[in-house]
Amino acid sequence: MGEVMPAVFFGHGNPMNAIQSNAYTEGWRRFGQSIPRPEAILAISAHWYGPDLAVSGSASPETIHDFYGFPRELFEVTWPAPGSPELAERVRKLLLPIEVRFDAHRGLDHGVWAVLCHLYPKADIPVVQLSIDSRKPPRFHYEVGRLLQPLRDEGVLIVGSGNIVHNLRAYDWENEKTAPFDWAVRFESATRKLMLEGKDREVVDYTIQGDDARLSVPSPDHFLPLLYLLGLRKEHEQVSFPVEGIVGGSLSMLSVRVG
Ligand code: ZN
Repeated sequence: MGEVMPAVFFGHGNPMNAIQSNAYTEGWRRFGQSIPRPEAILAISAHWYGPDLAVSGSASPETIHDFYGFPRELFEVTWPAPGSPELAERVRKLLLPIEVRFDAHRGLDHGVWAVLCHLYPKADIPVVQLSIDSRKPPRFHYEVGRLLQPLRDEGVLIVGSGNIVHNLRAYDWENEKTAPFDWAVRFESATRKLMLEGKDREVVDYTIQGDDARLSVPSPDHFLPLLYLLGLRKEHEQVSFPVEGIVGGSLSMLSVRVG
């Protein structure tokens, strides 16, 4: 049997990271260099969150510019990685009897390409996206992660993309380097500690962290991709944090690696 592919959660932050070079994008690039070259990538992004479980089946997914108010330069970026209808089918089979809709038209959102363009600038690895079903409780997302585990033995890199702390209302748009809010620091470090201790259930039940959770996770979309990663962790596998930082006071850039 070949090597087991690590799995990763990226704190993606501002879409401008796609065209910048900074400590975060450097960290992503280094992560890419530290793992075997994947056969394909399965991505679960905060920006495909809706009342449906679907997988992207296009052989050539378009680059979706799902944001506004950014410079034209960013709208001109394309990252034309191929899709993989085969991997999409494999995912559907693995998740049975859970039904997964095959979406032949879905492209890649910025939670995926704005990060992966730093790992694979040549866009030469096939990428498939799995949506986050907004109707389901946190536990469901963890369980889907567990069902996807076999892909790690098949050379597939599974990537979750969101932000563990994501509060844009509290975000300081004038000063990215402002001091982080206490609640953001507390929620991030508590979650990090729970992951190191293997206390998955407490991470899944993140609302037990009370006000810190309410402020850090005002809506579940950016937090849930982390739960897939926890589900993907095999017994005795290490957890590490290849990228760290909180920007604008309320946006955690923490990346989490298993394996
Ligand atoms: Zn986002």
